[in-house]
Amino acid sequence: MTDERTAPACAIPGTRLAAASAGINACVHCGFCLQACPTYIALGDENDSPRGRIYLMRALVEGELTLEDPSVHTHIDRCLGCRACETACPSGVPYGALLEATRATLGEAKRPPLRARLILALFARRRLMRCVVGAARLVRATGLPKLLSRLPGDLGFAFAMLAASESPLSRGRASGADQLRGDGSRGTFALLRGCVMEGLFTRANRATERTLIANDYTLVLAPDQHCCGALHAHAGDLDTARALARRNIAAFEKSGAEYVVTNAAGCGALLKEYAHLLADDAAWAARAADLSVRVRDVSELLAAAGPRAGAPLGYRVTYDAPCHLQHAQRVATAPLAALDAIPGLERVALVDSDQCCGSAGIYNLLEPALSAAVLAPKLVHIERTGAALVATGNPGCLMQIGAGLLRTGQSARTIHPVELLDASYAAQQRTRP
Ligand code: SF4
Ligand code: SF4
Repeated sequence: MTDERTAPACAIPGTRLAAASAGINACVHCGFCLQACPTYIALGDENDSPRGRIYLMRALVEGELTLEDPSVHTHIDRCLGCRACETACPSGVPYGALLEATRATLGEAKRPPLRARLILALFARRRLMRCVVGAARLVRATGLPKLLSRLPGDLGFAFAMLAASESPLSRGRASGADQLRGDGSRGTFALLRGCVMEGLFTRANRATERTLIANDYTLVLAPDQHCCGALHAHAGDLDTARALARRNIAAFEKSGAEYVVTNAAGCGALLKEYAHLLADDAAWAARAADLSVRVRDVSELLAAAGPRAGAPLGYRVTYDAPCHLQHAQRVATAPLAALDAIPGLERVALVDSDQCCGSAGIYNLLEPALSAAVLAPKLVHIERTGAALVATGNPGCLMQIGAGLLRTGQSARTIHPVELLDASYAAQQRTRP
């Protein structure tokens, strides 16, 4: 056992990783997490497993490896941050927090690649981001991305992702849903619109609002909100993540909403962790904690309300769990409750639905080969379900899986679960006398 007399001196005092040493020491090296780890399954290298990465973190703290060591950067960069290892770990190792601290510490020794810095800078600039996403929407409307999705390599995959952001339901499916109103008795909510969700999945955002209103919640607006900062936090750019968090806390406080709702698992996970992100900021810690306890994934509020049943929809659907909903937020059954409120929907189980799809924020842009290797078995499992629709509640997963389906010639399409529930409510409205 290590005690104060025998513990090696910390080689990187004052760093975020040094401050996270207790989490490193919680690992008992049992290996229960290995088979939950997509990069270990794909590569078979202990250094690309959670246990191996924790060994690397310990070696950095104890000075056996330096912050400049290229192999450390390689294995930490290859981590998806999916946190499946956290769910599998019997010792409660806070792997997500360790990864964040490691990336923040490594980022001080070596800047992230230019591509990552450009993407993160874009997400932090609201107006510029809106312009870029608006342009992407216009390109999508031409139908060209679907044609160009057949191009080889990363470019073809990028077009496939854009094509996959289009809803598979016809526009008429949602008409009529506007009139369906509950009594507002379940409290007020403000929606985190999200950079990508509002720009490319606008219909899912409106479906989120309508389905909550139909289930007795009242919408209030929070117009001053910004990007949640999740991509920045996961990349180790904690200063930008904190700056964005402060702006959002102020915006949602101003809205007066009882609940802050997200329909993007990655954004929701970070909003719930604002308390941790700003724990050392005396001026904001209490405000961050107050916000975090009010954050809900849309499926959580719907499940709390029942949710009310809609009209029948005759689709065969399978559900894939976004990692940041399943493993980071530990929300597993609520999205299924939303789907099960739709009569006639045939929901079939997906093998390994809790395994990462390889999207992981901007990971698929930075590590395309490994991302594709992680996605491949999921596409095989989806094909075996015979489902026409794959429901999943995160923009990255919707685009990653959707792009994979397009490029492998499968007819199944991705959809956000609330869009299906909204279509079911709309059908109910249309059939009312
Ligand atoms: S399951 Fe937990 S304790 Fe065991 S090796 Fe993995 S991280 Fe360490
Ligand atoms: S976060 Fe995901 S990819 Fe990274 S070590 Fe854990 S299970 Fe593996």
